Amino acid sequence: MDLYEYQGKQYFARFGIPTSPGGVASDVEQAVAQAEAAGYPVVVKAQVKVGGRGKAGGIKLAADADEVRQHAGAILGMDIKGHTVRTLWVEHASDIAHEYYASFTLDRSAKKHLCMVSAKGGVDIEEVAATDPAAIARLHVDPVDGLALDQARQLVAEAGLHEEARAEAAELLVRLYTCYVEGDCDLAEINPLILTTDGRVHALDAKVTLDDNAAFRHPEWEELAGTESLDEREVLAKEKGLNYIGLSGSVGIIANGAGLAMSTLDVVTQAGGQAANFLDIGGGANADVMAAALEVINTDEAVRAIFVNIFGGITRCDEVAKGIVEALGRVALRSPIVLRLDGTNAPQGRDILADHVSERLVVEETMLGAARRAVELAGGNR
Ligand code: GDP
Ligand code: MN
Repeated sequence: MDLYEYQGKQYFARFGIPTSPGGVASDVEQAVAQAEAAGYPVVVKAQVKVGGRGKAGGIKLAADADEVRQHAGAILGMDIKGHTVRTLWVEHASDIAHEYYASFTLDRSAKKHLCMVSAKGGVDIEEVAATDPAAIARLHVDPVDGLALDQARQLVAEAGLHEEARAEAAELLVRLYTCYVEGDCDLAEINPLILTTDGRVHALDAKVTLDDNAAFRHPEWEELAGTESLDEREVLAKEKGLNYIGLSGSVGIIANGAGLAMSTLDVVTQAGGQAANFLDIGGGANADVMAAALEVINTDEAVRAIFVNIFGGITRCDEVAKGIVEALGRVALRSPIVLRLDGTNAPQGRDILADHVSERLVVEETMLGAARRAVELAGGNR
């Protein structure tokens, strides 16, 4: 989950990373009130989950209430790279001496965390990486050892940060590392990290991506997720505890096991169709789970056919068949189902289903055959 800048800054604050005082506003008068509280001059900042807001005109300095009104009015409702601005962050403006860059991400190939620091901040880091790669100092951090203050000191020196910024920047890096690890981030990026004219180092921007797989140990993330514009289908699936990802095709998919669900997407594509979703109902596949899965897919108006792809391993196909029959009795489906049932006790499973087979419930022997049938029922390639 990506955070807005203001949420990222609040997250940073928990780990002692300095930011400017400020507040959130969703209309012009709120923006003025936040500006009064933060103290003039202020910066009025568009809150959208995309970079380059400055260049797009979404970041403006304001010296007084009139200027806040003017800028807040212009920025609210603005479109930045397809994102409409609904929220502003208004903070006390900083006097910038220098702009730097600092981030932590995971380097999967190295199996380590990667810290990047540059004295060339405030600009697109991808551009720096492309045009002047030597300007970015990199350090791989072993997750077992963590980041020591000495290493951080060396790194900021290597990156060429100004002498007077180094001590505070190194400390800030260690805190950012703690935020990244203990806060379960996939990305914690500060661009620009600034040295103020009075010699302080702090975060002027925040780009934080939380690792959704760690949500179970962060009940406080619920609040952050509330502000995210989610796919309605995904919201419903989450309520029902399903492993669901919405896609844009017309063939709804239910499979038991993530690997099988992925190959089901592939085989639907191979058959010339497009999947409406990814949905892994796991090993159990009992009536409750099956009914919940069908309900979620049923709410998707783009779905024209549902492909249920079950491979019985430890889960026996006769149990799954009973589950499907029961679920069908509970959910009034808009679309026909194509079922492929294979593996342990598959013949018994098909026997159970035999009485229910109709043009609304088609049973196919093979995965590819079932995919072709589902695509056909969904109206072919669209
Ligand atoms: P981004 O364009 O989406 O990355 O937004 P940032 O928050 O990084 O802001 C872009 C630029 O606006 C920064 O690089 C600064 O140059 C400028 N800026 C942001 N906040 C302030 C501030 O408090 N004072 C001054 N002088 N400039 C600021
Ligand atoms: Mn930035």
